Amino acid sequence: MKKIVIAIDGYSACGKSSTAREVASALGYTYIDTGAMYRAVTLYFQQNHVSLSNEKDIAKAVANIEVSFVLNAEKGSFDTYLNGLNVEKEIRQMYISESVSQVSRIRAVRDAMVAQQRRLGKKKGVVMDGRDIGTVVFPEAELKIFMLADMHVRAERRQKELLEKGQMVNFDEIMDNLEMRDTIDTTRQESPLKQAKDAIVVNTTFLLLEEQIDEIVNLALGRILQESPESSRS
Ligand code: C5P
Repeated sequence: MKKIVIAIDGYSACGKSSTAREVASALGYTYIDTGAMYRAVTLYFQQNHVSLSNEKDIAKAVANIEVSFVLNAEKGSFDTYLNGLNVEKEIRQMYISESVSQVSRIRAVRDAMVAQQRRLGKKKGVVMDGRDIGTVVFPEAELKIFMLADMHVRAERRQKELLEKGQMVNFDEIMDNLEMRDTIDTTRQESPLKQAKDAIVVNTTFLLLEEQIDEIVNLALGRILQESPESSRS
C-alpha cells in the first residue's frame, strides 16, 4: 500500500492533536504535532530572553533549536524534546499558550520549523497537525482536513484537558486565549491559518472523539486505496 501524507489544520483546541494521534496509530503512521514545535521554540525564547524584535537574536536562536519527538513508553505517546530535554509538560502551560502566537508569526521561526517538518514527513506515512500543513508545509498532501468547532465547546474541552494534566485554569482565561490565538493565527502575514481549497471540513462541535477519528481514518483509507493502483485492480 502506498503511504500518504495527512494534513490536519484548524483552530486551536478543536481536537486536532488527539484526533491526529489516534488516526496515526490506527494507520501505523507517525504523528507530528507541529504546534508542539512552535511551543518549544517559545519556551526556548523565554528561557534565553530572546527579543522578538531583534532579528539577529532570533536568527541565532532558531539555528540552535532542535525539536524532536521521543516515545514515552509509559504513556504510549510521543513527548516533545527541546535540544535533547523533555519539555512536554512545560510547553502545555498557559504562559506558553499566551505567547506562542507572537513567536509563531515570525518568518525566521516558521522557515526553520517548516524545514524540520518537511524533513520529518519526507518519507510520507505521517499525520501532521497544525495551521499551515495543507497550505504551506505539504501543499501536495493526499488528504487535507480542516477542523473547526464552536468556541464554547473548544474552551470546555481545553479546560478539561488542562485539568487532566493537573492545571486548573479559569474558563474565561481559556476563551480569551483561544480567541487571541485565532485572531493572530488567521491574520498574520506569514502562512496564516486558512482552509486549503482542497481540504475537507470536519466540524467537531457535536462529534465524539471516536467519531472524529473514524471519519478521518475512513477518508484516509479511501485515499490510500486510490493512491495504490495495484490494490484497486485486485
Ligand atoms: O496546536 P497548538 O494549539 O498547540 O499550537 C500552538 C500555536 O502554534 C498556535 O496557536 C499557532 O500560533 C502556532 N502554530 C502555527 N503553525 C502550526 C502549528 C501551530 O503557527 N503549523
